[in-house]
Amino acid sequence: MTVIGFMKRFGTQKACLEHLSNKKWGQSFLCSRCKCAVYTEGNTYLDRRCNNCKYNEGATANTLFHGVKFPLPKAFLICYRLSTKKGMSSHEIAKEVGITQKTAWIFCAKVRAFMNSSGLHLLEGEVHVDECVIGGKEEKKPGRSLGKKKPVLMTVEVRAKGKIGRVYAKRIANYQKETIYPILEGHIKSDAKVVTDAYPSYDKLNEKFAQAKQVKSMKGANFLEMHQQIMNMKGALRGLHHKSSDKHLQGYLDQHCFRTNRRTMKEPIVLNLIEKALVNRIVNYKYLKAIAA
Ligand SMILES: [Zn+2]
Repeated sequence: MTVIGFMKRFGTQKACLEHLSNKKWGQSFLCSRCKCAVYTEGNTYLDRRCNNCKYNEGATANTLFHGVKFPLPKAFLICYRLSTKKGMSSHEIAKEVGITQKTAWIFCAKVRAFMNSSGLHLLEGEVHVDECVIGGKEEKKPGRSLGKKKPVLMTVEVRAKGKIGRVYAKRIANYQKETIYPILEGHIKSDAKVVTDAYPSYDKLNEKFAQAKQVKSMKGANFLEMHQQIMNMKGALRGLHHKSSDKHLQGYLDQHCFRTNRRTMKEPIVLNLIEKALVNRIVNYKYLKAIAA
């Protein structure tokens, strides 16, 4: 979907609200306070009022779009920009939609909070695991010594003929087994064929994944898919944020993986994102408040 097509479809407050209402409730309803399923029309356009507790809920309530102080078409356009291949910085977005940089930045951080992995779809088949570091000039520092570098754990599903499936990237505090193993267990099926390099932290991985094996890294001659994914990720981060604040690094990693993992979807990624922003609304809303604070 082109940006012009998108703006045509979601160019008015009404069109955005109708889309949210359809995706959030459709023909059914579930009161977020008392779980009653019967409603009548509420105070303003598309609001629904619970018949039992009389709570009036809007289409945006408890979603990514809750309490957004600028018109919904602008918020939708930001979602579109963050879900396209190139990505945009909050400066560019602020300029394009006509809001302040700070407002744009906060909303972008909220959008990214909805781009994190649900943890429901574990990686399977052959899964390669490696780490890389993010962090300016020190990226060139060899080996696993950290300094100010921020280590990131990468997992990539590797398919036949060098094709890849899904990828996940997670900011980690260190390379210890106690740090790495729980993350891998949360992202990879236990019967997956996990492949790592010979780094000692991975030497007990077959206790968690029976088929895990270590392969000696041959300086770029193997693990090509992994190296490509790390390069892609670093490239995406460079374009998105210049001073990589550690607090928000995971959000940028999530944004990159979200797009990568949806690259073959028929549905525009932005519509998938908007839907996700409704489905996970209750869990994520607390997180959003924490980000904005
Ligand atoms: Zn109710």
